[in-house]
Amino acid sequence: MKTMNQQLAETIRAYHQKGWSPATSTNYSFRTEADAKTIFVSRSGIDKSQFQPEDFMCVDFEGNPTAEFEGIKPSAETLIHCVLYDLFPDTQVILHSHSVYSVVMSQKFEDEITFEGYEIQKGFAGQTTHENKISIPILPNTQDMQEFATWMRASKDRFGNHCFVIRNHGTYAWGKNLFEAKRHLETLEYLLEVRHGSIQ
Ligand SMILES: [Zn+2]
Repeated sequence: MKTMNQQLAETIRAYHQKGWSPATSTNYSFRTEADAKTIFVSRSGIDKSQFQPEDFMCVDFEGNPTAEFEGIKPSAETLIHCVLYDLFPDTQVILHSHSVYSVVMSQKFEDEITFEGYEIQKGFAGQTTHENKISIPILPNTQDMQEFATWMRASKDRFGNHCFVIRNHGTYAWGKNLFEAKRHLETLEYLLEVRHGSIQ
């Protein structure tokens, strides 16, 4: 049985192959128990094609390294992960992409992207039919993580499909385990790509 950090490292390398994490971008995290107040997040500046299980480090809910990892730099976006775990206590894995389609599609819509009639919508937990009209929020990009955390907390009710887009940046998706988080991210990325094709 592979450990969580081994499984997630494999996922990270596979997503790099899809072009979702160029130039050391993106970050990923997990926690070992649903109510844990520390999380394991990817270290800053790692080439995701080479990501290893030991490239995770442990931080508290403010994004500060625990004693064991003092002096090691977590991803610049660590606070986004901390806030998501706080907002959605069932969450155990958070994935992020810098995919081309998320960036391009975020330029074509304002505050949200809606989808209706796509079979794959059922990939989002809670969606049981392709007939629903679903909305994925687009949040503005910023380098100020405290500001972004405030926007996230204000947008909690819009996160019902367990994911969002950041304009000109990428996507975040999460789940109660790696299997579910992957399903949510891959559903979103597929929808963005197919919808992009349909509005040409
Ligand atoms: Zn990012």
